[in-house]
Amino acid sequence: MSKVCCPKCDADISDTNEGADPSVGIMSGGYYCDACDLGVADHEAYEPLEGDVQISGTRDPTEPLGTPFSELASQPGTTPEQQAKYENFKRIARSWGYD
Ligand SMILES: [Zn+2]
Repeated sequence: MSKVCCPKCDADISDTNEGADPSVGIMSGGYYCDACDLGVADHEAYEPLEGDVQISGTRDPTEPLGTPFSELASQPGTTPEQQAKYENFKRIARSWGYD
């Protein structure tokens, strides 16, 4: 079983996993940190593994796979770097059927 840590205090909360309980407003299984009084949904819990690069934030589900959001720009840029991001955006937009 993989380890789950509190996103706030980094405590090991792997053993606090609970199933969904709609009667108390928990619609999906999750974890709970006693120290922080913080509920952590399953999909929010991160599972640090040895050698893992810590990723902050969660991935936008609408984000095109393979191209980090930081490499995209919806507006043409004034710098070559920004323009390259815009080209990325246009390329992906085209793949979605937009032009
Ligand atoms: Zn905590």
